[in-house]
Order: sequence, then C-alpha cells, then structure tokens
Amino acid sequence: KVVKAPPSQQINARAFDIRDFDNYPEVKQFNQVKALLNKCGVENPYFRINEKVAGNVTQISGTQYINYSSYNYLGLSGLEEVQIKAKEAIDIYGTSPSASRLAAGEKPIHGELEQKIANFIGTEAALVCAGGHSTNVTVIGHMFNSNDLIIYDDLSHNSVVEGCILSGARRIAFPHNDTEKCEQIIKENINNYQKIVIIIEGAYSMDGDLAPLDKFVRLRKKYPVLLYVDEAHSLGTVGKTGRGIGEYYGINAQEVDFWMGTLSKALASNGGYIAGRKSLINYLKYTTPGFVYAAGITPANAAAAVASLDVIERSNERVQRLQKNTQLFIQKAKQSGFNTGPSCDTPIVPIIVGDSEKAIILADKLFKKGVSVHPMFYPSVPLGEARLRFFISSEHTVEDLDTTIRVLSESI
Ligand code: PMP
Repeated sequence: KVVKAPPSQQINARAFDIRDFDNYPEVKQFNQVKALLNKCGVENPYFRINEKVAGNVTQISGTQYINYSSYNYLGLSGLEEVQIKAKEAIDIYGTSPSASRLAAGEKPIHGELEQKIANFIGTEAALVCAGGHSTNVTVIGHMFNSNDLIIYDDLSHNSVVEGCILSGARRIAFPHNDTEKCEQIIKENINNYQKIVIIIEGAYSMDGDLAPLDKFVRLRKKYPVLLYVDEAHSLGTVGKTGRGIGEYYGINAQEVDFWMGTLSKALASNGGYIAGRKSLINYLKYTTPGFVYAAGITPANAAAAVASLDVIERSNERVQRLQKNTQLFIQKAKQSGFNTGPSCDTPIVPIIVGDSEKAIILADKLFKKGVSVHPMFYPSVPLGEARLRFFISSEHTVEDLDTTIRVLSESI
C-alpha cells in the first residue's frame, strides 16, 4: 500500500535536487562539524587507525598513546586466554554462523553464552543478538506498539531512541535520573495505554553517572509498569564482582523485566543481549525481527564473550582494579581543579571544559603529547558542556593516570 504524503508535505522535486547531497539540511549540519574542526585548526580525530589491540595504550601510525578512547574496560580484548577460545571456535565452527540461528545457524557456543549471561546476572534466560545497538532497536521496536507508552531518560543512547521510534509507541522523556518526574508521567498516563515501560541505562555514557535503580524498582513495585535497563557500560564494571548496577544496589534480578547489555565493552567481543524471564526470552527468540531475520553472532564472538565471563567469574581482581583506577583518576583530576561532572562509580569520566572549540583543541593537544581521548560536544552534549570523555581501564597504570593529569594541566 502506497501512503501519500499530504500536499503540504510534498516536496517539489524540481525545486530540490535530491541528488545534490551537499544541499540536504542534515548533510549541511554534518558539514558544520567538519567546519568546526577546520576552524580549530586540528587534525581530524575520527577514524584514526589503531594498529594493534587498543588497551590502556594504543598504537596509531607507529606511535604509542595512552588510550582513553576504547571501552576495553577490563583489558580482556587482547588477553591470550580469550583469544585462544575465539580461535578454537573458528577452528570448530568456522567464521560465520552462515544462517539465522533459527534456521541452521545455531551452534553449541550460542546456548552456552546465553546460559552463562543468565547465570551471571541471575535471570532465568538470555538471548544474544549480533549487535548491541541492534538489540535495543529490534527488541524495543518489537515489544512495544502504538497502544503503548515508553517513558525514557532524556540522556538515553541513540539505540534506545531509535527503538522507541521504530515501535510507534508514544514516547515521553523525563529529565535525567529524575524519578519524581518519571512517577508523575506514570500517574498521568496509567490508564491510557496497554503497556507502559520505563527505559533507563545502568551507567550513562556522556556523564559517567549511574541511574538510581533502587528508586526505579520502587516505581515498578508501585505501578503496573515494565522496567528496561541498558547495562552497556555497567556490566563487568559496576558492582563488587562486576555483575552490574543490580549488584551495586543489591537488587534482585527479577525486579527488572529487561536486562539489556552489550558484549563489545567489558566482555571483549561484539553483540548484544536481553536477559529476563523465560517466557519473555522464548517469545523474543522466535519473533524478534533483528534476531530471526539476521545471522547470529559469530562463533568467535560468542566464544570470546564466554571466555571473558569465565575470567570475571574466576576473580573480581580486574573489576576491583578498574574501580580503583577510576576513583584515583577522578580524585587526581579534582585535585588539579578539573570538573569531572556527576561521574561516580563508573569507568566513564568526563572532564568538562565548556565550549566545543576548547574541548576539540584540548583533545588535539593531548594527542600530540601522547594521550588519545575524544572530545564530545554539541549536539552530543548540551551547549557549553563540551568535554573530553575518558574511558578508564583496569590496565591503566598509576603512571598512565599521573602522566595524563600532568599533560591535561599543561595543556588547558
Ligand atoms: N547502549 C549504550 C548505552 C551504548 O553506549 C552503546 C554503545 N556505545 C550501545 C547500547 C550499543 O552497543 P554496541 O556498540 O555494542 O553496538
């Protein structure tokens, strides 16, 4: 069925050359970023080629940099034990699942990984999709529809927002971490929708702060709403043994309906998961478009995530080192007079410097002095709150952190 746009929205193709991509408003907006970088007189910080494993250090054009641009939080990407398991999986199963898992793509390592994730978090079951971003898009897009309401934190990741749009549900954002406002939205809408879901993240990737999960769980107890938590940055990094924000707040895993996470960060792989009750996971397994109509995660990626979970389960030593490094970095940054914003108890530490140009130039200066860190600026963060975003790793040495603070102080 062809749906025609109303006349007011029809574009006159002759007045607007659709093949002149530089004339698209969105392309013009994107070109402004390039213009800003040029104005700052800096090297393009994007798509730099990292020639080896990116851990606490990375090699770019043959030079070593102290690295804060990768979320290899526990240093497990590059760990021999993990690499051996990934290589073994290739030897046994090949390099591709060669089909949707529903058809002929299912390998023993897939089920093993899902069981391991479920056990680690404490849920009945889990489902692994081939990408973290696509997990949010397809699961949110699939689970909710135009009869539903999605209430989400206004600092939510793009993948959450895209999933909300795809679903066709009504969406209302609440101010970051504002549970009172969230409750008010629930109260106002409680009888108007078939399903209401609150979507939050464990750790927020721009500010490095945590969601007050305990308060959201209280809302879920008080009202008939679902709770969806994206643990992309909190699994493996937060909580005494790295089990995430649930462990941090002492919350039983059953008190959240959807535990979402990615394998690309602490778990040194690539892919995404949803963990929860068996009935939910089984339904998703047979019906979620991004799972059913897509090839599964590769055997090597599944094996890398299994091996990473093995390392984390065996000892919380890396998790503890990561948390110690983060506290040390925040403390040293504050002592040197830097604004680390609301970051706490997550491995993401922003150094907020103000305007976009300042952040871009500062990141460039750091790079020239051997520190790789990316600037974040409007529209990724509010105007006037441009920052450098540091991803801390368990593998950073105290010397790495000291050098970085010294170079920052010299360059500001
Ligand atoms: N959710 C959040 C909160 C994220 O920060 C990211 C990626 N940075 C994703 C989902 C997507 O995960 P992936 O990069 O593994 O696709």
